[in-house]
Amino acid sequence: MFEYKHIDSDGNNIDLPIGKVVCVGRNYLQHIKELGNEVPNEPLLFIKPSTALSPLNKPVVLPKNLGPCHNELEVAILIKSIICKASIQDVEAAIWGAGVGLDLTLRNLQNALKKQGHPWERAKAFDFSCPMSQFVTKSKIENLSNLDFNLIVNNEVRQQGNSQKMLFPILKLLVNISNTFTLLPGDIVMTGTPKGVAALLVDDQLTIQLNGHFSINTCVI
Ligand code: ZN
Repeated sequence: MFEYKHIDSDGNNIDLPIGKVVCVGRNYLQHIKELGNEVPNEPLLFIKPSTALSPLNKPVVLPKNLGPCHNELEVAILIKSIICKASIQDVEAAIWGAGVGLDLTLRNLQNALKKQGHPWERAKAFDFSCPMSQFVTKSKIENLSNLDFNLIVNNEVRQQGNSQKMLFPILKLLVNISNTFTLLPGDIVMTGTPKGVAALLVDDQLTIQLNGHFSINTCVI
């Protein structure tokens, strides 16, 4: 059931444990606007447990009877060594590489929880809420601040993102996170979604690309 493993661009297992996923909300202006939220002064953080992870090259499993489940495609950073209250240099040395993941979100449930002032976990941290791609090793990535990624649903581009548009860029984000949550080898950081969130439906055909690195075809069940 829980078959997730970290894999590299060649499909080989990466020798790191499966850890927590630290997620960032509201990191792209256009997405903040589409949901009518306020621009944060500091990164908005939440966590998905390791049981949220599933391999993105397998079908994406939607929770049933819980309202619309939205796509949020995000750059994902795999951590290879411990970082705690880190500097920019520390975090640079601690990054294994980058991929992309879906931060699946039960939007109506999230809105209801928000209204009640409750935590979001039931809407965002459920089993398989974080389908994850393979990771490209850092030495093969020219610039973490220029990662271009896309989600195509049924042959239409739904999300188009570039990490240069983040409000809090990746290295600064990791420094900030490491002041609250120590990141351990095998943890993943999800860096926020660009605009284009919408409901996924059973039988949708997905193409997910980290441009210049990989393209994954999958479907929704
Ligand atoms: Zn997200």
